[in-house]
Amino acid sequence: MQKEVKTDSPEATEEFGRRLGARLQGGEVIELVGDVGAGKTTLVRGLVAGLGSGDHVSSPTFTVCNTYNGKFIIHHCDFYRLHDDALIKKELAELISEDSIVLLEWADEVVRVLPKDHIRVAITTNGEDGRTFAISLPERYNYISL
Ligand code: ADP
Ligand code: MG
Repeated sequence: MQKEVKTDSPEATEEFGRRLGARLQGGEVIELVGDVGAGKTTLVRGLVAGLGSGDHVSSPTFTVCNTYNGKFIIHHCDFYRLHDDALIKKELAELISEDSIVLLEWADEVVRVLPKDHIRVAITTNGEDGRTFAISLPERYNYISL
């Protein structure tokens, strides 16, 4: 399933993230694609809140993954500095589980090692505050209504 959501402020993006986060059931892997400033981390902020976590969200710039605790363990990763597919694959395998959520920024780089049926969110910018979220939801995620 393909869906499109548009927002016109960072707050609206967070709100969209909260709605999406509240529907996750554990085990989901979400790939976030978009240029710097697109709103990946802003969306993650909403997702994490929607998963019942009050943890502070920041870009995983110096660490590969940040971990937050909510309804599930949330791994927020950025693999752009890891160039070894085998290593990334191993790291991912350790993070993905039924009681975790894996959120990947810059996943374009590592898409070849992601599970085939992950959720993909591609963000494009329209003007200063407009953002379009193109969401690809494989069949098995039909419980996520947006
Ligand atoms: P990324 O993680 O993709 O680099 P961030 O979420 O860190 O992006 O930054 C997004 C920037 O764009 C923030 O400065 C935010 O205030 C701004 N912004 C403006 N409009 C929006 C919007 N509709 N959704 C998300 N961010 C927005
Ligand atoms: Mg970011």
